[in-house]
Amino acid sequence: AKNKGKNCYQQYSANMASRISEDFQMQEELGEAIKIGHLVVHYQPKYSTRERRLTGAEALVRWQHPEKGLIAPDRFIGIAERSGLIHGLEAQVLDSVCAQIRQWLDAGLVVPPISVNLSAVRIHDEDLPTRTKACLDRHGLDASYLMFEITESLAVREILRAIEALKRLSAMGVNVALDDFGTGYSSLSYLRQLPIQQLKIDRSFIIDLAAKEGDHVAIVRSIIGLAHALRLHVVAEGVETEEQMAFLDKLGCDEVQGFLMSKPVEPEAFAAIIEADRAR
Ligand code: C2E
Ligand code: CA
Ligand code: CA
Ligand code: CA
Repeated sequence: AKNKGKNCYQQYSANMASRISEDFQMQEELGEAIKIGHLVVHYQPKYSTRERRLTGAEALVRWQHPEKGLIAPDRFIGIAERSGLIHGLEAQVLDSVCAQIRQWLDAGLVVPPISVNLSAVRIHDEDLPTRTKACLDRHGLDASYLMFEITESLAVREILRAIEALKRLSAMGVNVALDDFGTGYSSLSYLRQLPIQQLKIDRSFIIDLAAKEGDHVAIVRSIIGLAHALRLHVVAEGVETEEQMAFLDKLGCDEVQGFLMSKPVEPEAFAAIIEADRAR
């Protein structure tokens, strides 16, 4: 038994070591990918629940790896955050989104606001509002074309520290959404203090919405009620079925986003989505 224990330990440390070296290798490769522009941005449309008109899109980063193909953000955002690469990564996503909006506008499209995800690490960057303004100016864009999504995965205390930067963004005209609502340290008292305009209900609450009428319906109903009382716009993420749509409509959810309407798509495909919506 003693021997076995030792083997287990060796096994464990070998796994740990390979995890660490794998992460380290990924970190090196990611740094390189950011430098040579191997990151791409896909766009997932958002629609009004009742009318099903296009209201915006969320920009989602992917890593176009020469051998491994398209890598999902969940695989590398954590590594980017821990290594500090997140700053360069998100600066590039923001610039890429602004350049894309400029290109769509120049092509004569009516572009809805595009939401960009902001890592918790980045909300604390005091220069974020200034950098954002510089990026908008560089591409000749009004601030209303851009939105940020922040998650409540960080402690309330940290969010409160970031309020100043968020206020400056709001004052510039960049709206902010609180993402993944219901999964983090949501506290109703700080919600009121946050300079945000939108609340996104996490997918985990939407999944069971129609399956078993019960707790989740009650939760979603109260989130929507709370948001509206605070004059916030509510978006449901991860909508996959018509049944969920019907529930969200009944509960008064303002906007929906999910595979039922569209997966995240390449810029060209999103341009087609804009045109299809205009043609309605
Ligand atoms: P998120 O912000 O919650 O983004 C929504 C995720 O849900 C996306 O995954 C999207 O593809 C997926 N999704 C949308 N509709 C459905 C649906 O109907 N069903 C299911 N099962 N999934 C749906 P994705 O693109 O893999 O992104 C994962 C996460 O990576 C995002 O979660 C976001 O937290 C993060 N992320 C993406 N881009 C960035 C970025 O530029 N910066 C930072 N910090 N994080 C990013
Ligand atoms: Ca998001
Ligand atoms: Ca989300
Ligand atoms: Ca989520």
